[in-house]
Amino acid sequence: MNFNELNLSDSILNAIKNKGFEKPTDIQMKVIPLFLNDECNIVAQARTGSGKTASFAIPLIELVNENNGIEAIILTPTRELAIQVADEIESLKGNKNLKIAKIYGGKAIYPQIKALKRANIVVGTPGRILDHINRGTLNLENVKYFILDEADEMLNMGFVEDVEKILNACNGDKRILLFSATMPKEILNLAKKYMGDYNFVKA
Ligand code: AMP
Repeated sequence: MNFNELNLSDSILNAIKNKGFEKPTDIQMKVIPLFLNDECNIVAQARTGSGKTASFAIPLIELVNENNGIEAIILTPTRELAIQVADEIESLKGNKNLKIAKIYGGKAIYPQIKALKRANIVVGTPGRILDHINRGTLNLENVKYFILDEADEMLNMGFVEDVEKILNACNGDKRILLFSATMPKEILNLAKKYMGDYNFVKA
């Protein structure tokens, strides 16, 4: 399969080409059409190096509206991963004018507040995101896409309670995508509790 069989816009196909991606990886072949064309929730078992980031970044870039405030939130267990995810989205967004806010601890809060005012996509770690929610500087009412990246790592690091608080702060209609290298019982329970029906994919 090639990227041009996936119903993507020319602008993104061009960005994909510029990154040097020749063919979609297994996880991309499975997640991109599901995320883009079905209104479903997704649980994806995929490890780092599988191309999992682009598997959600590419459809997200297609789906998020530039003019509707924050429509997507991506939670990562570490600031390093938040930066990597944000960079991958930046490099794939083509000519779409999407603003990405990186929100993690150890950084001044005011530049983040400013970035949140213009953001379409928020990428960050649970603690600082919750801090912004509690301060009233992050409004998740318009969120349509909620992505949990490396969910098993979030579990290991004790972030599940924060993740649940953030999930509960969002609009009820959102779609949820959960990525995890392993699928312990706690992750499947989380999926069952917040997602109801979902498609499970593994690559
Ligand atoms: P990830 O699993 O998301 O951490 O991605 C691992 C690396 O593979 C990153 O450097 C991506 O930019 C790269 N990558 C993602 N998709 C592809 C692809 N289809 N072809 C070649 N490289 C890719």
